[in-house]
Amino acid sequence: MEAKKSFDKESDYFNPGPGTLTISFLGHGSLAMELDDFVVYVDAVSDYGIYTRYPKADLILVTHEHADHLDGGVIKTVSKPGTRLVLSPPARNKLGTGEVLRHGETLKIPVPSWKSEIEIKAVPAYNISEGRTHFHPEGRGDNGYLLGIGSLRIYLAGDTEDIPEMSDLGPVDIAFLPMNQPYTMLPEQVASAARRIKPSILYPYHYGNSDTARLLKLLEDEKDMEIRIRKMQ
Ligand code: ZN
Ligand code: ZN
Repeated sequence: MEAKKSFDKESDYFNPGPGTLTISFLGHGSLAMELDDFVVYVDAVSDYGIYTRYPKADLILVTHEHADHLDGGVIKTVSKPGTRLVLSPPARNKLGTGEVLRHGETLKIPVPSWKSEIEIKAVPAYNISEGRTHFHPEGRGDNGYLLGIGSLRIYLAGDTEDIPEMSDLGPVDIAFLPMNQPYTMLPEQVASAARRIKPSILYPYHYGNSDTARLLKLLEDEKDMEIRIRKMQ
């Protein structure tokens, strides 16, 4: 099969059953997912892509209101009639449009060409370290998302530390965990979170200048976990 290339970025390909899932690493916390012709953006912001050249969105997910995750201009650029926009309550307040998903709530969005749907569950994301809890306060309602795409369960952690709720996510095939202090996690925290979540594939993201080699070292004994470092700058 000829690999599809809608983005001028690194991409990985998966087979969740109904078709091909392509994940493109736009940069920082920005991702694009293509379920063949169905296009999903996650926290897409202008620093990490040339959105006028990218495909329009069928679905846009926003984890929280910070400017490195919520960009109203990009949302406008990639939207088309019928685009669904799902965001955290504070992000909805800031932007003034879109569908709110609160922790524990689930939404199903149809993927017509797959005769299937994406399942989206909002889960908590917040800081727990002393002196950092103001960045993403517990109770503000910032989201992580658990996605069901075909046979795959994908965890997009958002901006969070290694919170207790990560032990209760259920099976996770692919996990995106943020790694940059002071806002999110140290490599040690990402490693500890990953040991609890036990994804088959771990992508550190939102990692700035963090030491990805350190993370690989910390998890080198986890033989059932593939840690993939993708270019996210
Ligand atoms: Zn943030
Ligand atoms: Zn962030």
